[in-house]
Amino acid sequence: MHEKTIAQLSAGLAVGHFSSEELTCAFLDRIARFNSSLNAFITITAESALTQARAADERRRRGEAGPLTGVPIAHKDIFCTDGVRTSCGSRMLDRFIAPYNATVVEKLNAAGTVMLGKTNMDEFAMGSSNETSFYGPVRNPWDLEAVPGGSSGGSAAAVAARLTPGATGTDTGGSIRQPAALCGITGIKPTYGRVSRWGMIAYASSLDQGGPMARTAEDCALLLGAMAGFDPRDSTSVDRPVPDYIAHLDQPLDGLKVGLPKEYFGEGLDRAVAQAVEAAIAEYRQLGAEMVEISLPNSHLAIPAYYVVAPAECSSNLARFDGVRYGHRCEDPKDLLDLYTRSRGEGFGAEVKRRILVGTFALSAGYYDAYYLKAQQIRRLISEDFRRAFAQVDVIMGPTSPTVAFNLGEKADDPITMYLSDIYTIAVNLAGLPSLSLPVGFVGQRPVGLQLIGDYFAEDRLLNIAHRYQQVSDWHQRTPAAFA
Ligand code: GLN
Repeated sequence: MHEKTIAQLSAGLAVGHFSSEELTCAFLDRIARFNSSLNAFITITAESALTQARAADERRRRGEAGPLTGVPIAHKDIFCTDGVRTSCGSRMLDRFIAPYNATVVEKLNAAGTVMLGKTNMDEFAMGSSNETSFYGPVRNPWDLEAVPGGSSGGSAAAVAARLTPGATGTDTGGSIRQPAALCGITGIKPTYGRVSRWGMIAYASSLDQGGPMARTAEDCALLLGAMAGFDPRDSTSVDRPVPDYIAHLDQPLDGLKVGLPKEYFGEGLDRAVAQAVEAAIAEYRQLGAEMVEISLPNSHLAIPAYYVVAPAECSSNLARFDGVRYGHRCEDPKDLLDLYTRSRGEGFGAEVKRRILVGTFALSAGYYDAYYLKAQQIRRLISEDFRRAFAQVDVIMGPTSPTVAFNLGEKADDPITMYLSDIYTIAVNLAGLPSLSLPVGFVGQRPVGLQLIGDYFAEDRLLNIAHRYQQVSDWHQRTPAAFA
């Protein structure tokens, strides 16, 4: 059963080949068997999963089932889950039991999905390798020496190792797409505002966006259809109908105009990764697409602008963790200041502290104009680059990551090199655009991802473009040998 996609599992449940309870047991067994070698889950919710599965089977017996009823999934541990620890990968929230469900969780529950557990992640979603997690790094199922990418590394590894057929992730600067690429699965970061951020622990609020991670574009379409939609509790949520993503999947690609940004194929891109990406582009030509070279001239400014805006917003968002209201509190504080400083000092890890310091500096009087305001101006220039590109082309293609998965520890002590692994993904968040990564090959044992970037609210088109490729390729069907 674990080899089946969500679409196949949904069909199997519909005709009664297996029950949700059987399916859930099968995945819980795999988690019990394999999680210790991957560290993909922080919390496993076996008991409540079985309760949800039985309820799903009951709904089906009553004829009330939808396509996701009884399908097991996992949630990144950044989404609040009622009655279940929601740690965000941090010691700060190690003992935090969320008192409510995030909108995304609520919507997926309403669609009938079964939660297997909460997946590991970089602390407060800050990282590109899952190594900043308080719970230790996640390993890449394709090669246990390699990182899975981050920050949604646990979700990506769990899907790739077939410990869950799908999972939620969040993407502030690449955290759905980069781990999807490094683990050989499909993931989509929707347009900013498409998926509610309510109950999703905030990192950088103007960039954060939740989305699905699964084996195929079709599975992502099923999950996104359930996750997306207006939420009055998120003031940046967009009130716009959710299209039927499944209905658009098979649209032909004849005449599709694809922009290839010259900045995404230059220096810094690993040669073998470039070859796999070029082979995928050649396949798209076969499918009827037309390639156009474009330029996104401000691409080189994306990382510096992001590393002002994201830390600035994080320094403000993380101010709420003060040891008073919830989260970690130090022992025997002398006074209020001691309570604040020791609680935060003990609760946060090194990368989170680095960003709080950078962000506080960038926002301070006297530096605000020089850094924060400047970064916001660059953000506008980057959005303009994309606006000009989409006047010319329907979609942009390029590598998701400049390299395949790197080794654990390889970049852990060098933040700048680590930050560069998001060089192709970050501009998309600064502009708020939708973007998808799909598997298109390997370098040795390690997967390569192709990134598709669409215009605002073109999720349906991105899923369609990825799906057509997955009809004529089998990269997404391969399973890491140790987890077959
Ligand atoms: N790697 C980037 C960072 O560290 C992006 C993380 C993310 O998308 N959450 O901030």
